[in-house]
Amino acid sequence: MKKILFIGTGGTIASELSHGALSPSLDASQLLCQIPEVSGYCSVDAVQPFSLDSTNITPAHWQILAAKIKEQYDRYDGFVIAHGTDTMAYTAAALSYLLQNSEKPIILTGAQKPIGFESTDSKQNLSDSFLCACSELHGVLVVFGGQVLLGSRARKIRSKSYFAFESPNYPPIASVQNGRLVVYFNPTLGQPRFYERLEQSVGLLKLTPATDAALLHYMLSHYKALVIEAFGVGGLPYRNGEFRREVIAALKAGKPVVLTTQVQSEGTDLSVYEVGKDLRGFGVLEAYDMTPEAAFTKLMWILSVTDDPKEQRRLFYESVWHDILPPKEIET
Ligand code: ASP
Repeated sequence: MKKILFIGTGGTIASELSHGALSPSLDASQLLCQIPEVSGYCSVDAVQPFSLDSTNITPAHWQILAAKIKEQYDRYDGFVIAHGTDTMAYTAAALSYLLQNSEKPIILTGAQKPIGFESTDSKQNLSDSFLCACSELHGVLVVFGGQVLLGSRARKIRSKSYFAFESPNYPPIASVQNGRLVVYFNPTLGQPRFYERLEQSVGLLKLTPATDAALLHYMLSHYKALVIEAFGVGGLPYRNGEFRREVIAALKAGKPVVLTTQVQSEGTDLSVYEVGKDLRGFGVLEAYDMTPEAAFTKLMWILSVTDDPKEQRRLFYESVWHDILPPKEIET
């Protein structure tokens, strides 16, 4: 029988109503009691390092989860993390960089409705997740609404309905249909590499047509690296040359700046428009088809392993388990 470590962290799945509002109150063992069928095919130990609405989760919590899995890695065949859905995409991406190339499945799941509600997706998502954790799948995955998505590619795209997650630029790698796991493909892995630290001084700025250059200046000086969510296929507003001056000065000072897009699907291509074309030449990094969550957490990992701008650039474009399609493939 496979041995699975079940890690509770809070979220809607574990929430109950108190004073008219939902907040996490059930622990991992109480969640487990609601899906007794799981004990028929695996043995589960439950732990609860913290219990939070995922709105309150920070990079320190990602590090706690990574450290727990690293410490228990040899004792278990797979891991299931019950997590709030609101920031699950960030946690899944962060764990994809902290726990690279795990040959064992590390599953994140949650729910849109608490497990105690009469109508709920909690039990289905949990039992699907245990099935995946007992399978030959590997790496950090999000299991939600019957879909199995790469952790570095998943995004919450619906705030209320059960099919809350998708991976806009990458197909689901498997699905669970009536209790049966259907694997479409199981991406290959490199050597397992585990890390414990993330550099937290990374910012993310979503541009609007009214964004002030002073805000860009503040963020570039405050953070050690910045992800800019621009428009369309990417590029920077001109604003009397102020945006370009700020970004180019930061790049010249060796600060990584990534351009990504607010558009959900298909990613960036800075080569198309004048507003983006020559920025690559100054060393700006381009997110291509990565999610903003992945670009942001990947920078945190990269900055924690090297200060060398050349190495940072190499690592950013090196695919960590399919988190980015190499630029050459996108350009063809
Ligand atoms: N606010 C909740 C959380 O992220 C939402 C959820 O879990 O679905 O913890």
